[in-house]
Amino acid sequence: MSRKKLRQRSCIACRKLENWTDLIRTVLVNNEVKVDLNHRMPGRGAWLHRNCIRVALERKAFNHSFKFEGEIKYQELEDYLKNLSDY
Ligand SMILES: [Zn+2]
Repeated sequence: MSRKKLRQRSCIACRKLENWTDLIRTVLVNNEVKVDLNHRMPGRGAWLHRNCIRVALERKAFNHSFKFEGEIKYQELEDYLKNLSDY
């Protein structure tokens, strides 16, 4: 059985390398974090585990990842995560 090799990304919170299919891609639009479900949105993406959001927020990992110094809004991302069944 042959498997395509998956690209790997590292989680912005815990830094673990993971197949990108296991992470959530987010992009920053203005000052708001958007969930990029189809991996089609332009710009720099920040990848994270769904369970790593708390750590990411505590460490301001989004600010580092997006090189953004102002206040970032996470509402959409938090709503998205809340709707996942096993969150
Ligand atoms: Zn993680």
